[in-house]
Amino acid sequence: MTAKIVIIGAGIGGLVASLLLAQAGLDVTVCEAAPTPGGKLRQVTAGGATIDAGPTVFTLRPVFEAIFAMAGARLEEHLTLEPLDCLARHAWEDGATLDLFADLEKSAAAIADFAGATAAAGYRAFSARARKIFETLDFSFMQTHQPRLAGLIRNAGPAHLGGLLNLSPFSNMWDELGRYFANPRLRQLFARYATYCGSSPFSAPATLMLIAHAERLGVWRIAGGMFRLAEVLVRLAEARGANFRFNAKVSDVITRNGRVCGARLASGETLPADAVIANADLAAINAGYLGPAARDAVAGMMKNATRSLSALTWAISGAAEGCPLAHHNVFFSNDYKAEFAEIAGKKLPTDPTIYICAPNPGAFFCLVNAPPVGDAGNPTQAEEDACLNIVLRKLQRCGLTLRPDAITRTGPQDFETMFQATGGALYGRALTNWKDSFARPGAKTKLPGLYLAGGAIHPGPGLPMAAISGRLAATRLLEDFGSTRTSFQVDMPGGTSMR
Ligand SMILES: Cc1cc2nc3c(=O)[nH]c(=O)nc-3n(C[C@H](O)[C@H](O)[C@H](O)COP(=O)(O)OP(=O)(O)OC[C@H]3O[C@@H](n4cnc5c(N)ncnc54)[C@H](O)[C@@H]3O)c2cc1C
Repeated sequence: MTAKIVIIGAGIGGLVASLLLAQAGLDVTVCEAAPTPGGKLRQVTAGGATIDAGPTVFTLRPVFEAIFAMAGARLEEHLTLEPLDCLARHAWEDGATLDLFADLEKSAAAIADFAGATAAAGYRAFSARARKIFETLDFSFMQTHQPRLAGLIRNAGPAHLGGLLNLSPFSNMWDELGRYFANPRLRQLFARYATYCGSSPFSAPATLMLIAHAERLGVWRIAGGMFRLAEVLVRLAEARGANFRFNAKVSDVITRNGRVCGARLASGETLPADAVIANADLAAINAGYLGPAARDAVAGMMKNATRSLSALTWAISGAAEGCPLAHHNVFFSNDYKAEFAEIAGKKLPTDPTIYICAPNPGAFFCLVNAPPVGDAGNPTQAEEDACLNIVLRKLQRCGLTLRPDAITRTGPQDFETMFQATGGALYGRALTNWKDSFARPGAKTKLPGLYLAGGAIHPGPGLPMAAISGRLAATRLLEDFGSTRTSFQVDMPGGTSMR
């Protein structure tokens, strides 16, 4: 008999799991509370323009190529990925700008012009270090089922054991960056990578420097917008037999004789299932939003967890004048430490670092980091309005005049509504020390038949990582169901091997 699987949530983790399980021949139903797939991978409209309002930086293409290959498809036949030569343009209020490129030497030359030859040498050393960390953790940690420290050492093998000892897990990113960058602006620029995981560079472990390498491996834009990724995954999963139900909120994971036997929708309808994959945020499961059985199954998994950052975002249609924008742009605060101290104090920063994606003429996506306090009714609308004024004035000081015609705002309270019990935290638990990376749960729970996938689950947040978590959940489930398709071994160009 074909196993029936219910997947709760059509975020990237749920979508990848649905595709792989449908490919393996299982009877898959995805229940998504929202009217559209994607979760945080979302788009909104502003003044008639459709603008990506979630992830904008597409990295680690091989992760997606491998997942598509496992499903018997080719990424390039479904999505047009356009590589970006300029990874991001960085700017400060005194008019200083610095572009970083996928090409290391091009970036080194730009850094030499910006801050001198010593700074360029520091950048080369930093890049070598970031690469080493990435290569050490890629297979031993990111691609494997939630390893503990001992497992990490075993997985690293002799080739990467030295690298493991060199990870500097005990120093924070900010301190470690000081070893490479005497120039405060360069230190600030590279510290920003910690926020990709929703963490503060002042507490995140230095291992997060690996994100700089992930970005240097390439940043792409998706023709038609990032949301195409969600649409394509749905289409491919449907073509393999998966059934998608939107506006279908699950209220309960139901059990019989100590194992999962189905899911109950908020409408009262019951869907029988041999297994359930929960792509809802771990915080929501922990708070009981999927019922007592699921809550008990994740008991303790949020222990000592600090919420990751939230964001205040504006999708804007309108005009921009002044400094030319790249696809990705960052306008830095004058005092990074003060900015994160304010956020830690549960306030919107008074001088925020501003990210702007400019995907098309007349369309902009603007983001500042914000405290995850949406469940406490904060920040208020008045505070968010004030923040927008601060942002527009700061941009002007940086040489950019944004003239919005229409704005669609999403803040911590909105994120809390979409992703319950998170306060608007967008990346699961923040990494505040080396142990936090090991504290994310793996795909399997102690409740037989309940699996987890998503950015709060190992290996962590960001589209590629959440996609990997979906793959790991699908693999675990297939192993448990004794499927002949437990291993989707795919050998990728460049030696990346994925299971
Ligand atoms: C503003 C923003 C910018 C970002 N920028 C980037 C970036 O540039 N690059 C990058 O790689 N990553 C970025 N990220 C992070 C990335 O988007 C996330 O890590 C990733 O999309 C999380 O996927 P997920 O699998 O955890 O699912 P989620 O996106 O969290 O989706 C979970 C889904 O489950 C559904 N759900 C929850 N409960 C229920 C229920 N009870 N019943 C039915 N459905 C339910 C929700 O409606 C949702 O659709 C960004 C995120 C945000 C918000």
